[in-house]
Amino acid sequence: MLAAMPPTPPPVPEPGEPRVRDRGDACPGALRLHSADDGRLARLRLPAGRLTSHQVEVLADAAETLGDGSISITSRGNAELRGLADGCGAGLAALLAEAGLLPSRTHERVRNIVASPASGLDGLGATDVQLWARELDSHLLSAPWASALSGRFLFVLDDGRGDVAGLGGDVTLVAVGGGEAELHVGGRAVRLAASDAPSAALAAAGAFLAAAAEAGTGAWRVRELPPGYGVDLAECGVAGEPVPAPALPHGPPPAPGVLGPAALSVLAPLGRLTAARLRALLPADEVRLTPWRGAVVAGTDPGRLPLLDAAGLISRPDSPWAGVTACTGRPGCAKSLADVRADAAPGPAARLETEGAPDAVGELPGEQGVPAARRPGPPGHPARPVLPVHFSGCERRCGHPHGAWTDVLATGDDSYRVDGVPTPRTALPDAVTKARTTR
Ligand code: SF4
Repeated sequence: MLAAMPPTPPPVPEPGEPRVRDRGDACPGALRLHSADDGRLARLRLPAGRLTSHQVEVLADAAETLGDGSISITSRGNAELRGLADGCGAGLAALLAEAGLLPSRTHERVRNIVASPASGLDGLGATDVQLWARELDSHLLSAPWASALSGRFLFVLDDGRGDVAGLGGDVTLVAVGGGEAELHVGGRAVRLAASDAPSAALAAAGAFLAAAAEAGTGAWRVRELPPGYGVDLAECGVAGEPVPAPALPHGPPPAPGVLGPAALSVLAPLGRLTAARLRALLPADEVRLTPWRGAVVAGTDPGRLPLLDAAGLISRPDSPWAGVTACTGRPGCAKSLADVRADAAPGPAARLETEGAPDAVGELPGEQGVPAARRPGPPGHPARPVLPVHFSGCERRCGHPHGAWTDVLATGDDSYRVDGVPTPRTALPDAVTKARTTR
């Protein structure tokens, strides 16, 4: 049995010692609502993005009755409700608690677990890491000290296919087959029994808190620990064999379409799902929101894919919406210089679909971040991937993809920079198409 060390109180920093963080993180949660220009915002942590069909219904109802009628999917596969009225917090909390979406008031913001969403459904992957995610969540909720983790601290569980391993986890578990797993933390790695993996991930988080307390810099994430401080896996009781930290596996996210005999994958246009589109995912055993702002639907009839397409979900890799994301922008965010969501949809992406004959468009998703469309290559050459593109209303670039992507940054009402090149809004379609296809 592995046990995590509880954190000790932080010492007073030495004079001159750099303080990385001088306050707690301000991440919104289900109980800590954020004030935005379009109302209050609640972020619901969904370990591995998982929702039961009842929870899908509850979330859709909450969006309609308390919010602006939609949910946003975050780059960690969590869900956000926007446009909430002042004073709705208690009602929202009661609704979520009844549906099992708020199992702990003290730990609700630390349940940041991303796991390969198609694990156990499509025959790929060495282990069903969805089961790890449930076990790790249970361990987190049972450890009182774990509530001290930052709302930004991230656990990543990859089933060996490499779709999520590169998403910047503080603690990353990778299934390697043969009943074994690798635990990666801060550039160090150990190999251990797969059955110990969830406990070891929790122990590593405890070791991080101990190191952060010792450093006294208020670090929220492993990479913020100052030089000389690290996560000592041996000292926190992880019974693993240290190995030279191998490169993390890298593979594509699940493509929109049929995943297996009873599973589908779809994307949400610009990461938003109206209540109607959310309900369109049912009937299903469960829905897993993904870091690519989509949903894997488990326990469903793959023949329903055309219905989901008709409901406005992205069901094909060559959809003009695939790979296009945007931050909240105006009017929801006061910092935004433009209505980036309006400018992102759908012109610039639609051009990609018209570049070649439909049968020349490949079916593989992009290799980085968001599943990306493919455009036809020269005769005799494979189709080339189209980069994901992200529209941002300001330099913070909230929610941008990992890996390579095309950066579309608002610089004024009618002006942008596309990968740094000043571009008037009216020229965006051509500029974005060129940037996504020529790098
Ligand atoms: S990138 Fe800027 S404009 Fe967009 S949501 Fe973040 S802070 Fe707001």
